[in-house]
Amino acid sequence: MSMELRNCPRCGALFAYTGKNLCGACLAEEDKEFETLRSFLKENPRASLEETSEATGVKPERILRFLRDGRIIAAQDAAWLQCERCGRPIIAGRFCPECAKRLRQELHLEGPGDRGNRGDQDRMHVADLIKKSKSQP
Ligand SMILES: [Zn+2]
Ligand SMILES: [Zn+2]
Repeated sequence: MSMELRNCPRCGALFAYTGKNLCGACLAEEDKEFETLRSFLKENPRASLEETSEATGVKPERILRFLRDGRIIAAQDAAWLQCERCGRPIIAGRFCPECAKRLRQELHLEGPGDRGNRGDQDRMHVADLIKKSKSQP
């Protein structure tokens, strides 16, 4: 396998792609943010998004991205995220469990998709599939 060069989506630097979506520096930084967030949330499960952002120094949109990626999970009643389909508060991901289940059934998600080569975004999000199926009749 030859080496593939990519631009880091976070800082723009060119890096050798190794299955991770970010360059080494950003990965390290993201891991640090992730650890900080995780330990803060463990000790402060009822902190608001703003409080968490202030205490950890991680921007709210990055916190939400960690949540959507399922890397961190907010407290059950924190509800920083909303289901993109029904608007119900959720603690992680993009859809509430019910909508996720229904969408999976509707779209027959389980087939072999275009996986691979997507690094951290390997797990395809349901919303992406919806967009795709809409734009490709
Ligand atoms: Zn980077
Ligand atoms: Zn829902």
